[in-house]
Amino acid sequence: MAITISVLKEAPGENRVALSPDVVRKLVKNDYQVLIEQGAGERSFYRDAVYTEAGAKVVDRAEAITQATVIATIAQPDDATIDQMKAGQALIGLLSPLTDIDFVKKLAAKKITALAFELLPRTVSRAQTMDVLSSQASVAGYKVGLMAADHFSRYFPMMITAAGTAKPAKVLVLGTGVAGLQAIGTAKRLGAMVSGYDIRPASRGEVESLGATFLTTSVSATGEGGYARQLTEEETAQQQAELEGFIAQNNVIITTAQVPGRRPPLLVTQKSADEAKTGTLFMDLAASDLGGNVAGSKPGETVTTPNGAEIVGAGDMASQLPASASDMYAKNVQAVLNDVNEDGKLVFDIDDEVVGELLATYDGEIISNRLRSVMELPERKPAEPEEPETPAEDQDDAKGAD
Ligand code: NAD
Repeated sequence: MAITISVLKEAPGENRVALSPDVVRKLVKNDYQVLIEQGAGERSFYRDAVYTEAGAKVVDRAEAITQATVIATIAQPDDATIDQMKAGQALIGLLSPLTDIDFVKKLAAKKITALAFELLPRTVSRAQTMDVLSSQASVAGYKVGLMAADHFSRYFPMMITAAGTAKPAKVLVLGTGVAGLQAIGTAKRLGAMVSGYDIRPASRGEVESLGATFLTTSVSATGEGGYARQLTEEETAQQQAELEGFIAQNNVIITTAQVPGRRPPLLVTQKSADEAKTGTLFMDLAASDLGGNVAGSKPGETVTTPNGAEIVGAGDMASQLPASASDMYAKNVQAVLNDVNEDGKLVFDIDDEVVGELLATYDGEIISNRLRSVMELPERKPAEPEEPETPAEDQDDAKGAD
C-alpha cells in the first residue's frame, strides 16, 4: 500500500501550507498518495485545482486525517485533530515540543509518531535540506526588512533632490543569525545605513561581509551547536544597559534574537522603548505568546509608545510571504520523507543521529535527547549492536578445540 501524506488547512492567521503543488508532483511520481484538505493552499495562492493537476486528491478534513500515514502541517494541529488520529500515524511540522510539553505527552500517550522540526540537529550536514528553521527564518528576515521600510515614516536611502537632501535611515539589527542577516541584506539593498549586533562573536564576519557595521559587545555567549546560550541575570543587565546607547542612535531597530527552546531574551527594555524618539520604529521578529525582544510588543499588533515610537509585533513574517515560505517548507518536508522512506515504507531509525533527534515521540516514548533533557528524563542511549550468533558448526569446532 502506498504511503499517504495528508496536508491540513492551517488555523486562521497562518497563511502557509505544508506542501506545494511542485513537491506534490514529485511525491506522486515517487509512488506516494497525497491528500489535500479542501482549501489548504488557498492562503498561499495555491488553489485546490492546482493540487489536483499535480496528482493529489482533494478531500475533507476528516478523510485527510483518518487516511494518512503521515500528516504534514506548519504548526501544531488543534486537539480535535489529534483526537481523530490513531496510534502509529505520523505527524510532521513545527510542533513546539520544547515549549509545550503537555502536547508532547498527549502525542506520546496516543502513540503518534511526531517529527518536530525544532528538534532537527541543524549542524549535521545531511540535515541541512530538512532545516525548516533556516528556510523560514530566511524568508522572515527578508520580509521584515521590507516591512520596516514600508512602515517607516521616512526614506531608507539617501535622496538628493531639488527639494533638498534626505539622510539615509539608520537601521540596527539585533540578533544576526539566519533571519538577522537576511534583514541586514534587505535593508542594505534598500539603501539604509545598517549595523548588526549579536552575542556570538562568530557572526561579526558575516555581518561585515554584507557591508554592515558590527557593533562590538562586551557580552559573548556562544552555546552548543553554534547557537547563543541563555545569558545570566548579570549579563542580561549589562547587555540591556549597553544596548540603550545603541538603540538611541538608530531610527529603525529590527530584533530577531532567539535562544532555542526558551523565551526570547529581552533586548529593548521598557526604559529604552519609552525614551525612543518620536518616529522610531521597532520591528520585533521574536514577538510571540512567549514574549518578545522588545518590552511591550504584542504579536500581530502595532503599539505606539507615549513618545510616538512604534513597536510592531512581527512574529509572523514567514506567513506574510506565504507562497515562497511554503515552497521552501515543502522541500524540507520532502527531504525528511526521502530520508525515512525505505522501499516504499516509512522506517524511523531511533538510533540515527538525525531521525533520532527529529523524533519527539515514537511508539509512546520520548525519543529526542534534547527534548528528554528539557523534560528532565534520563538520556536515551543507542541500542547496543547485537552480538552475532555463532553458527552451529563453529560451536562444534570450538568444542573440538577443547
Ligand atoms: P536563532 O534564531 O536561534 O537566534 C537568532 C540570533 O539571535 C542568533 O544569531 C543568536 O546568536 C542571537 N541571540 C540570541 N540571544 C541573543 C542576545 N541576548 N543578544 C543578541 N543576540 C542574541 O538562531 P539561527 O539564526 O537559527 O542560527 C544561529 C546560528 O546557528 C547560525 O548562525 C549558525 O551558527 C547556527 N546554525 C548552523 C546551521 C548549520 O550548520 N547548518 C544551520 C542553522 C544555524
